[in-house]
Amino acid sequence: MALPIIAIIGRPNVGKSTLVNRLAGDQTAIVHDEPGVTRDRTYRPAFWNDRDFLVVDTGGLVFNDDTEFLPLIRQQALIALREACAAIFVVDGKTGPTPADEEIAGWLRQQPVPVLLAVNKCESPEQGAMQASEFWELGLGEPYPISAIHGSGTGEILDELLVHIPAVTEVEENNEIKVAIIGRPNVGKSSLLNAFVGEERAIVSPISGTTRDSIDTVIERSGQTYRLIDTAGIRKKKHIDYGTEFFSINRAFKAIRRADVVLLVIDAEDGATEQDQKLAGRIIEEGRACIIVVNKWDAVEKDSYTIYDYEKTLEGRLHFTEWAEIIFVSAVTGQRVEKILELVSKAAEAHKRRVTTSVVNEVLTDAISWHSPPTSRGGRQGKIYYGTQVSTQPPTFALFVNDAQRFNDNYRRYIERQFRKQLGFDGTPIRLFWRSKKVRDAEIGNLNRATRVK
Ligand code: GDP
Ligand code: GDP
Repeated sequence: MALPIIAIIGRPNVGKSTLVNRLAGDQTAIVHDEPGVTRDRTYRPAFWNDRDFLVVDTGGLVFNDDTEFLPLIRQQALIALREACAAIFVVDGKTGPTPADEEIAGWLRQQPVPVLLAVNKCESPEQGAMQASEFWELGLGEPYPISAIHGSGTGEILDELLVHIPAVTEVEENNEIKVAIIGRPNVGKSSLLNAFVGEERAIVSPISGTTRDSIDTVIERSGQTYRLIDTAGIRKKKHIDYGTEFFSINRAFKAIRRADVVLLVIDAEDGATEQDQKLAGRIIEEGRACIIVVNKWDAVEKDSYTIYDYEKTLEGRLHFTEWAEIIFVSAVTGQRVEKILELVSKAAEAHKRRVTTSVVNEVLTDAISWHSPPTSRGGRQGKIYYGTQVSTQPPTFALFVNDAQRFNDNYRRYIERQFRKQLGFDGTPIRLFWRSKKVRDAEIGNLNRATRVK
């Protein structure tokens, strides 16, 4: 499996090799010879959190000087960039932006890969931020103050970098949204399936690695493909005469595991039952996006029930999925059935969404200024250094704090509510991990950030 490649780019002497050494530690280099390219590129394996990648130093990229090697170096950089999923542009914080930096930045802005701007040689936390801020003018977004020699600030830039590094499982991702239709028997799952498929020919496709018994139906709406998972389980259930209930719940669990978005179908006349709560619990455990589909809305006496009242009751019973949208439909009349797919697309998007580290920290800064972290009996206060999104599906955040135990459930829920309020994420569960972190001198960059956060 090919690993994602990160290109390190910059003028000579800004500290690219030092940064590569810092990122790759002492892992040995892989040297690639390529005919026609004089300076071999060196790929160094590196990892951050749970992601592996290769860093490639592109040599000094200089545009102005007309020495004979420079076109070659530039060609090197071009090749590296073509195969890279992201680049780190290293500049020298001690010298400030130079004309060559501007020229390279101008060129980088036209490349199709995301570029992060590392302002190196920023050892001093106070001066570092100032030195870095001078580089906003390069038009490459937030400049990250780092010291490749000391290692400060590199964690933050790596956190941001992860956003652009595809996890190995995500590499083969396509745009299809996998949808599981689950619910108790007789709530209307197969009617709903028929309503989706309608007159159009259902494209039924067996999936490799599963039994023939498991069949998906693929439908399309305005260019978006939806794979309805294990529709055989929905269609065939009438013929299963042994242990239907047991069988279907396990089947439902399997479908949930394969899905991006789960439609939890509820019978409007029955409301949410204990089994529905159990299914909802499983959806959360698996970290899937979810839409609560209240079916047979046509059969409900509207005088006694308004949607509003109904929603309140339902939210009470399924309070742990308060982030899930609720939609009232009729599979039989077709009322609002198409709207379900719109909600599915929205939820799938939220499920996959990435938020930059700077936005996460803006939200944290704001949340903390309204409501400061709890203080322990000993009088020591909880401190949040910074947070970052570590993965998607579901969106997962790590919050680095002085002592995770100081953050009680109340405060954790408060932060989660703020995340949702400020960032959205409708339709998907989100996860927050609270990590205690010892701050050493080497990570003074984070402390620096923390004083801003506090
Ligand atoms: P490259 O030509 O871009 O690969 O740069 P090098 O990694 O060879 O570094 C060039 C010079 O900058 C060396 O003297 C390094 O010791 C120095 N240098 C690299 N990183 C830092 C840093 O974080 N802080 C300071 N003060 N000097 C650094
Ligand atoms: P499944 O077991 O969840 O697949 O449920 P079915 O789709 O087989 O539906 C069970 C029963 O509910 C059937 O008699 C359907 O006609 C009926 N049903 C399904 N959807 C609706 C609906 O929207 N309105 C009404 N009134 N009945 C429905």
